[in-house]
Amino acid sequence: MNVVIVNTGSELMLGRVLNTHQQWLCRRLADLGHVVTRQVAVADTGSEIQNAVREALSRADLVITTGGLGPTSDDLTRELIAELLGKKLVKNPDVLAHIEKFFAQRNRPRPAKTNVETFVPEGAEVFLNATGTAPGLAMEIADGSWEIGDGKHNAPSAISHLPSASQKWLVMLPGPPRELRPMFDHQVVPLLKREFADEIFICRTLLTTGIGESRVQEFIEADLQPLVACGLGVGYCARPGAVDVRLTAGGAGAPEIVREGEAVVQRILGANIFGFDDDEIEAVVVGLLRAKKKTLALAESCTGGLMANRITDVPGASEIFLGGVVSYANSAKEKFLDVRVETLAAHGAVSEAVAREMAVGAREKFGSDFALAVTGIAGPAGGTPEKPVGTVFIALASAAGVTVKKFHNVWDRATFKSVTATQALEWLRQTLSA
Ligand code: ATP
Ligand code: MG
Repeated sequence: MNVVIVNTGSELMLGRVLNTHQQWLCRRLADLGHVVTRQVAVADTGSEIQNAVREALSRADLVITTGGLGPTSDDLTRELIAELLGKKLVKNPDVLAHIEKFFAQRNRPRPAKTNVETFVPEGAEVFLNATGTAPGLAMEIADGSWEIGDGKHNAPSAISHLPSASQKWLVMLPGPPRELRPMFDHQVVPLLKREFADEIFICRTLLTTGIGESRVQEFIEADLQPLVACGLGVGYCARPGAVDVRLTAGGAGAPEIVREGEAVVQRILGANIFGFDDDEIEAVVVGLLRAKKKTLALAESCTGGLMANRITDVPGASEIFLGGVVSYANSAKEKFLDVRVETLAAHGAVSEAVAREMAVGAREKFGSDFALAVTGIAGPAGGTPEKPVGTVFIALASAAGVTVKKFHNVWDRATFKSVTATQALEWLRQTLSA
């Protein structure tokens, strides 16, 4: 199925908001096997929105609009699309009840402005908004019917080559990501499965870390070749500290082909695969610690608390995470982790010996089963010939003792922190999985 996404919002044009819907929706749609052929972002003006939707309908089987469903005067998408399609807006009692409940639960009066959200284009399917007020809307549209609505905002007549498919779908989603994402997953996906169910498509993404993109490809490509010849699609995506391998196939044999492809990648890269699809390494680590009923403490220097932040992003982290120290200065390493003055003086803060004492200190201070410590030189300044920028020591302490590994993470500061945190978490993941 061919999809066009139309993002509306003047805030996108002003550079005030990053258009994350483009990336998020494309990722979801691609994983479902749909092909996004075009994404357009337009300002909240009548002619821009109507022209973009008119053109999108002329190209796609499915058009998804985002934004402009709210109650304020710049939220025009619903009205403009109804006008374009020649549909009346009719009051929907379910939406009204939903919005009244939303405000009652928060003990706030319902603003009169929300009345506009209770009007929906006649015949539209309504997605009640689980995390907000404005409903999402979906309409099946007969070919060419968007030329009915006229408008004051008439389209340029250049769009004369209408495709022949007779029915298409137009889906309108609210702008806030916390509203759009659950609505897409729980309400739009079932609609797509219902309406466009004829094609089987399987997608499996294996998430690896510790090997660069080209090495990953080198390791697996020859062994995957026979499956590629049978229709397996293989894609690679490099992210800071991780490489995703995406396996896809369509048609009747697709589940089998993807399963075989996964077995090949597992056999070759198994130890470096930390998860699948939308997994995050920190969530995998928290899950393993919870399953083993083990606790974690952190001693962070160069990651500045990023590891603690990532761990505490995971629901349920409190069961396993006791705490962490951001010991940036030498004095903090001494005071809070019992790193010895002599060790710091003899080896410097970025050293195997200090990393070791940080991990042991954190484990003792917090009384945890495991402790991870990181100390390194993020740069751009601070490097020496013996310890160039990017030098990192990571220590892992447990009942079995303490081990230190050295890495060379030569990146900009933000990537350095992210990659270092991933390496430390990955080491713990491997230790817990062994
Ligand atoms: P609301 O009821 O909040 O007004 P809405 O459906 O009218 O929702 P918009 O007014 O277009 O949506 O956008 C609301 C907010 O959602 C924006 O201020 C922005 O923070 C976020 N948002 C909108 N579009 C995008 C986008 N493409 N990517 C990321 N965030 C977005
Ligand atoms: Mg709005």
